[in-house]
Amino acid sequence: MKNYDVIVIGAGGAGLMCAIQAGRRDRKVAVLDHAAKIGSKILISGGGRCNFTNVGAGPENYVSNNPHFAKSALSRFVPNDFIHMVKDHQIAYHEKKLGQLFCDRSAQEIVAMLEEECRKAGVEIILEQPVTHIEKKERFEVKTFHDSFCAESLVIATGGLSIPKLGATDFGYKIAKQFDLRVVPTSPALDGFKLKPADMKYFKDLMGVSCDTIVTCGKGVFRENILFTHSGLSGPAALQASLYWYPGNTIQINFIPSAPKETLEKWFLECKRKGSKLEMKTLLKEWLPSRLADRICENELPEKAAIHQMQDKKIKEFCNKLKTHVLSPEATVGYGKAEVTRGGVDTDELSSRTMESKKVPGLYFVGEVVDVTGWLGGYNFQWAWASGYAAGDAV
Ligand SMILES: Cc1cc2nc3c(=O)[nH]c(=O)nc-3n(C[C@H](O)[C@H](O)[C@H](O)COP(=O)(O)OP(=O)(O)OC[C@H]3O[C@@H](n4cnc5c(N)ncnc54)[C@H](O)[C@@H]3O)c2cc1C
Repeated sequence: MKNYDVIVIGAGGAGLMCAIQAGRRDRKVAVLDHAAKIGSKILISGGGRCNFTNVGAGPENYVSNNPHFAKSALSRFVPNDFIHMVKDHQIAYHEKKLGQLFCDRSAQEIVAMLEEECRKAGVEIILEQPVTHIEKKERFEVKTFHDSFCAESLVIATGGLSIPKLGATDFGYKIAKQFDLRVVPTSPALDGFKLKPADMKYFKDLMGVSCDTIVTCGKGVFRENILFTHSGLSGPAALQASLYWYPGNTIQINFIPSAPKETLEKWFLECKRKGSKLEMKTLLKEWLPSRLADRICENELPEKAAIHQMQDKKIKEFCNKLKTHVLSPEATVGYGKAEVTRGGVDTDELSSRTMESKKVPGLYFVGEVVDVTGWLGGYNFQWAWASGYAAGDAV
């Protein structure tokens, strides 16, 4: 049996950061992963350029049963801490939009940086180790197909269920249940929506059309683009809203976020007052992509009148529809496309300062496996780094 102070299971962002910090504190650390390489999700993230943090990341950018839980870890490892590491490794980066930082070249540089920091901190990374058994005796004993390990502290950093083809498993949730820790029900998130047949008919033939919107779902309000797909809605605003969506909920789309409703009404009424002979769908193209303007008008104004013939009341109703289009999605798209898993190990079971289980001393959960899920835009990596660091500082 190989002896360590700390065993981390999962060589993703959270596990590696935890190992680095523990190693820097002279703990003897091993990271085990069933995959053949480390950081698979980092490599595919941000379209291959890894949106590694968000300069504005704060607790309000996360969804959890306990919205206060993330505060402590996020305040002790802030975006600038990660940015310093990136700068030290001379990784060029840029802000794309809304505080989102991406590598200029490749996500591979982030993985190489974490690997190098593990090496400097004396961390052993042991790959292709499917774990078959975990038990707590005096110490934690971990058996894999190939070997046996034991340690005083065990950190579970095996992520969520999104993108199963990259090796995502329910391992972390199973271990939580084995030790009698509650798990908040999980679901795919940041994946966009499948629409019901009637809504697909309303928006038919719009695949590939994208436009600036405000999408609201519960407490989530996001101004960004949506993109019509073959089965529903994608694009950043739809992905963000899906984090707040539960079956049966509606979402609201404001198709013209650049103007308040009164301004929009005034603009159309002014066109009418000037005696415009143009149809609404022609005028609407001033505000919306042409195909979307056509489709909305075909559905809402089938009578095809010139605007000077329309009643003021009808114009106002139409503006109202453009500002608050309510949809009742059938589902979100699913784990095959989801950037994250919402839910996970119940935060009530863990110390917010160290990520240690309150019931099982020495057992820690970090990263996406915990019921803390960030918005799209670098927030999930910031949680992985911060929660990993918090545990690495305590193990
Ligand atoms: C396509 C895509 C793009 C994304 N882009 C971004 C982005 O740009 N910015 C951002 O902030 N977030 C992004 N995310 C989310 C982000 O990747 C995750 O939130 C983050 O990687 C979670 O880190 P983690 O270390 O907790 O888990 P993971 O990165 O999932 O790591 C878990 C590790 O555990 C290992 N493992 C799993 N099961 C077992 C087992 N049974 N035994 C041993 N090892 C196991 C896995 O092989 C993996 O190495 C993206 C996600 C996806 C899917």
